[in-house]
Amino acid sequence: YDRLVLATGSRPVLPRLDGLDDADRLPPGVGFLRDLDDARAVTAALAAQQRIVVLGGGILGIEAALAAAEEGGRVTLVHSGRSPMERLLGEGARVLAAALTRAGITVVAGTSTGIRLTDGRFSALALEGGARVEGGALVLACGVRPRTELADGCDLATADGILVDHDLRALGTGGVWAIGDCAEVCCGVSTCAACTGGTAPPGLIGPGWQQADQLGLAFAAELAGLPVAAAGPPERRDAVLVLKARGVDAVTAGETDADPWTVAPGLAVAVWADPGHGRYAKMVTRDGVLTGLVCVGMPRTGAELVLLFERRSELPADRSSLLSLDSAEGVLAALPPGPDATLCRCAGVTRGTVQESVAGGCSSVPEVSAGTRAGTGCGGCHDDIRSVIEHHFAVAVAS
Ligand SMILES: Cc1cc2nc3c(=O)[nH]c(=O)nc-3n(C[C@H](O)[C@H](O)[C@H](O)COP(=O)(O)OP(=O)(O)OC[C@H]3O[C@@H](n4cnc5c(N)ncnc54)[C@H](O)[C@@H]3O)c2cc1C
Repeated sequence: YDRLVLATGSRPVLPRLDGLDDADRLPPGVGFLRDLDDARAVTAALAAQQRIVVLGGGILGIEAALAAAEEGGRVTLVHSGRSPMERLLGEGARVLAAALTRAGITVVAGTSTGIRLTDGRFSALALEGGARVEGGALVLACGVRPRTELADGCDLATADGILVDHDLRALGTGGVWAIGDCAEVCCGVSTCAACTGGTAPPGLIGPGWQQADQLGLAFAAELAGLPVAAAGPPERRDAVLVLKARGVDAVTAGETDADPWTVAPGLAVAVWADPGHGRYAKMVTRDGVLTGLVCVGMPRTGAELVLLFERRSELPADRSSLLSLDSAEGVLAALPPGPDATLCRCAGVTRGTVQESVAGGCSSVPEVSAGTRAGTGCGGCHDDIRSVIEHHFAVAVAS
């Protein structure tokens, strides 16, 4: 090759369980949720009315459990710790756990130790203390790890992922680059503030696409004989994590573990909990600017907080005014986000760009996606694209 770009992605973590020792040869009834075949296996288990056991209380495990429950499946979600997504949602995770139970999911906290097979097929997950969770299919959702074995085999520098500099070039190489889930941007210069602290790949599609764009543009410029400026340090923005499920809303971003009673210069933490009505909100500010948020069961407040977080905006002095967005009056009074608000986080497309595309004649989600790339990642913004289209035609008909 002249140039080699490694984009080997990540692989699912195989949990240490008795009866599971080879990720490539899982027993019948046990699978990951990575590709279409995995999804088809879950669909088949649902069609056979088997109980689905999902192991892992992270965002992927919860989304899988909710999707299976929405299809009418009997689902048990097994997680360690007090509540699913506790690390990201803090106390809000308890509110989420209640919402999962209301959605028909059996939520079980415990440390799993092994799997049991009956006639060679998965039949139960064994937990510490002797308990068992019976089921016909086990979905493993215990996180992912960058696939670095190819790079390791070539003696490239790796840590969590394949180590690359700001230009995405593998450290110490001339013609090898890495992007996406397998790449860890960590230039190795001790004075580089952007490359100290947590540099592990975020495992999200948006940053990988940005890297693909960056590299593609740099290669194209080079081939065209144009000067290529060295890329600056990566902008490490805290990811906004949105649970994609119907009827269960949870969103989190930034620093979320700050304690409301901590006294520190500039720090203010506001928490509102209403477990009885399935609502929880936490706002962390530094010098008035929103630096962290958790919102469960409050979709409008969550959307507004995400907007303020992404703009690094100051919060209103009266934080409680944001909570009313999810009240009956707030729903009526809420204004739609402006054109500069991000609509598709994966591809970094604003609402204004989608509005322009619709005004230019695109009248379906696939058409808007083809024209703007909005909605081509996780798909979580399809409803928003649809609402832009509907709003456009409602206004057109009215006028
Ligand atoms: C179920 C699921 C839901 C997700 N939901 C979201 C979400 O809502 N939002 C979000 O931002 N992200 C989400 N992600 C994560 C997102 O899919 C990844 O961040 C993204 O796919 C990473 O892209 P990539 O190109 O780096 O790697 P991948 O998409 O994993 O592609 C890597 C490719 O390289 C191939 N490969 C690996 N090694 C070799 C080799 N030695 N030789 C040849 N080929 C090789 C693999 O087979 C694979 O085709 C989700 C992932 C999953 C599995």
